[in-house]
Amino acid sequence: MSFQYAPAPESRAVLDLKSSYGLFIDGEFVDGSGQAFKSVSPATEEVLAEISEASEADIDRAVAAARRAYTRVWSKMPGAERAKYLYRIARIVQERSRELAVLESLDNGKPIREARDVDVPLLAAHFFYYAGWADKLQYAGFGPKPKPLGVAAQVIPWNFPLLMLAWKVAPALAAGNTVVLKPAETTSLTALAFADICQQADLPPGVVNIVTGAGETGRALVSHPGVDKVAFTGSTEVGKAIARAVAGTSKSVTLELGGKAANILFDDAPIDQAVEGIVNGIFFNQGHVCCAGSRLLVQESVYDDVLLRLKRRMATLRIGDPLDKNTDVGAINSSEQLARIRELSQVGVSEGAERWSAPCELPDRGFWFAPTIFTGVTQAHRIAREEIFGPVLSVLTFRTPLEAVEKANNTPYGLSAGVWTDKGSRILWMANQLRAGVVWANTFNRFDPTSPFGGYKESGYGREGGRHGLEAYLAQ
Ligand code: NAD
Repeated sequence: MSFQYAPAPESRAVLDLKSSYGLFIDGEFVDGSGQAFKSVSPATEEVLAEISEASEADIDRAVAAARRAYTRVWSKMPGAERAKYLYRIARIVQERSRELAVLESLDNGKPIREARDVDVPLLAAHFFYYAGWADKLQYAGFGPKPKPLGVAAQVIPWNFPLLMLAWKVAPALAAGNTVVLKPAETTSLTALAFADICQQADLPPGVVNIVTGAGETGRALVSHPGVDKVAFTGSTEVGKAIARAVAGTSKSVTLELGGKAANILFDDAPIDQAVEGIVNGIFFNQGHVCCAGSRLLVQESVYDDVLLRLKRRMATLRIGDPLDKNTDVGAINSSEQLARIRELSQVGVSEGAERWSAPCELPDRGFWFAPTIFTGVTQAHRIAREEIFGPVLSVLTFRTPLEAVEKANNTPYGLSAGVWTDKGSRILWMANQLRAGVVWANTFNRFDPTSPFGGYKESGYGREGGRHGLEAYLAQ
């Protein structure tokens, strides 16, 4: 018997939402000179605020401010002093954690439980972690006197707005660079709240600049001649365009792109635990996760049992209001993303795979997609090859470890993988065979600031996080 949960909505009273937001340049909020656009709540389609669009002239101003701050203040400041600002930011994030979590959930559509327990704590953790490196760069293994690169142009996606900001801004500042960051157009609000935190921390003007806008603003930023470093997280398609735009310049580049990870379940794995890991691997953050375990590879001998338990577990997932503390799966971030998920799911059906969606009632307004699995999937199916970036799992089978490896590596991507087995030796053997930047064993979607993250092949190049993450922001 399943029991009902009474609604437990988190209050929005903690927010002080303005009707419109400007750009954050040189320590001040200023109006952008482009065409303003709206940020909507994906769960209700309510307009949350109007956001300024940064034009090329605004990007010029932001890059000039970052350059001034770099040459006059930030690169001259001893690491121990820079560290104090990073610690201060981390502490303010903790103090304002409730506000940040509510805003992230409202603007992105992710469950408040995840924003509160994952995104915001990790945001603080990254600033704490990189604060610790700021005065120890000479011991990081990148030469005796590593130097910052200068002004970093950073462009991030909408799936983890605050966390992606932390991955980019914290190591850049710790290493002595200044930044101009562009959040994704559907999720600008928490980056602007972060700008407010920079003001509150008395961060010197120009060290962090936030410019809002869509692809054209991003393009203008990464191609600006005044930037020394480009850091991008987003789709492989845009990553390739950026690589072409900076080719032949002296800019250094890191690209964190898409993925199509295999989550591999052997017959000796603890099945109930593995089912939790499969669910977390693909339904966490509505499957809007670059390293999502979107291809489940199950050993044939346990296939029927795993499918039965997986469907039973999926039927208990609660889908709905992201601000409700009981919600497991929130809203799809935008109508465009929903259309893409629907289209690829339709392709799955027309290519002959069998679709099963968890029985659930979806709200009338907003963008929603029920957690879904496809069985009878072959490696040639588009749903086994393309990133769906939604709550959709493709299930394939294997008989031997070698076959599992071949199938797992049969992808243009190489960001992450998961292995579920009772045998330590098999975990180590698999980890050596899998062409993936991160391999999780008997767990999935675990993140930590001390651990490097990044991909092979079309998942991009460079690493973020940990000591490795500093390298992208230092010249030896
Ligand atoms: P996207 O590539 O469409 O957009 C990402 C960002 O790039 C946005 O801010 C967008 O405005 C900007 N942009 C768009 N066109 C641009 C251009 N020509 N020049 C410069 N900037 C431009 O991706 P998305 O749909 O927002 O995000 C989803 C993608 O991000 C998925 O493919 C996912 O796998 C990937 N992702 C990767 C990682 C990782 O660490 N590897 C992490 C999170 C998300």
